[in-house]
Amino acid sequence: MSTTLVKGGGILTMDATATLIPSGFVLVEGSRIAAVGPMSDAPSDADVDHVVDASGCWVTPGLINMHQHHWYHLLKGVSEGLYLEDWVTQVLLPAGEALRPEDYLAAMRLAAADMLLTGTTSFFNHSVTEVEASLVDQLADVSRGTGIRQFFGKELRAKTARPSAEHRAQVEHLLARYPHGLDDRFSVNLAIESGEHWLQVGAMDAELAGYAAELVSRFEVPVSDHITGGTLFRSVSDFRLREGSGEVQWLARHGLLTHRTLLAHAVWIDESEIRAASESGASVVTCPSSGAFTAGGTAPLRAFLASGLNVALGTDGPMVNDSVDMLGQMRECFLLSSTKYLTPAAVSTGQLWSMGTRNGARALGLGGRLGELTPGAVADLAVFDMAVPRYGAALNPPASLILSGGGPKPNWVLVDGDVVVDPGGLVSVDVGAVVAESRELGRDLAARAGLLMPLSMGI
Ligand SMILES: [Zn+2]
Repeated sequence: MSTTLVKGGGILTMDATATLIPSGFVLVEGSRIAAVGPMSDAPSDADVDHVVDASGCWVTPGLINMHQHHWYHLLKGVSEGLYLEDWVTQVLLPAGEALRPEDYLAAMRLAAADMLLTGTTSFFNHSVTEVEASLVDQLADVSRGTGIRQFFGKELRAKTARPSAEHRAQVEHLLARYPHGLDDRFSVNLAIESGEHWLQVGAMDAELAGYAAELVSRFEVPVSDHITGGTLFRSVSDFRLREGSGEVQWLARHGLLTHRTLLAHAVWIDESEIRAASESGASVVTCPSSGAFTAGGTAPLRAFLASGLNVALGTDGPMVNDSVDMLGQMRECFLLSSTKYLTPAAVSTGQLWSMGTRNGARALGLGGRLGELTPGAVADLAVFDMAVPRYGAALNPPASLILSGGGPKPNWVLVDGDVVVDPGGLVSVDVGAVVAESRELGRDLAARAGLLMPLSMGI
């Protein structure tokens, strides 16, 4: 079994008490962390196969982006100035109809490169378009080839292009073929849509909700849903008026509010819904910059945290945000929450580190095994160089990594103990080729979808 010693840097363990080790080591054996501690306890270089010198750096768990849509990477820059409901009809739907299989695959390479080069090692990919099982197989191969860890949320719909029985057979086939967990870097989970738009177009109904709940239980997989991610005075209010309840209450009524539920966004949920979500063990996945981008609002994170709700962090797809940099997302969450509550550090940098690492693992049912640097956990980590002007005197590295911004590229990223980023960049991805391919395909896609606009600053 191959051994790697990451040594000499500060260690942000994100264990249960968020232990900080100013100068320490992480010993990796195979795909797992074998030991973590101060340099005084480190093994010698001669006793390991590989050494990563982290002097002047901080070593953190790989970041976990719990809400993403990978193909949006091809269409950054086309969504400025739209409320979510208008964005769905004017951008998402035409783009989804224009997508070709090669776009999905190119976008996967691009998305993985974008995330790995900002320290994200795991992401939940919530599918919003119909993706055939054969294409999921290809996405799995491409995703694995980049080195990233992906939890693919397979869409489950009441109405699909295929007959319902075939659609459901494909979903069950994929759930069985790519079981949830950490044994494979690509696993299949579930994605449903119970929001206003999707109920109106027949993508979700009570019968499908019951079937989804049964699948979640049978395959023991997380299920992701967009909850009140739209505009308060439009889709969010429309839902309440028509259904007579909030969206979380709707899920509860249909057996879909459990410890495996991922409530993405959850900007406008009331106290009773927060309490019900907390009691169920569900997780909120807050996407602060997406809510700000579409003027959807900022989630009541302090109420979530006070209730005991597990809060994870996501960027949303970068067509409604335009960035998947998780440290940047933490900074935006810090600032937006302080503004919302008129309280400095209304959500602290320590809480944000939890949201971007161990809380994501807990949301996936993988707490203790992912999202922390502790013995037995998978060796997913990032090494950030702190000896750069951005961090000043580096007096408080964990806080500065978030607050000083700028999307720093990590010197090293390991997934399952494998080096996927080294000081030269991505190890198994030709970034130049990926970018060139994406620019060509993205431009064609935008043109087909009617989203290619003349360049203009609009001032
Ligand atoms: Zn989303």
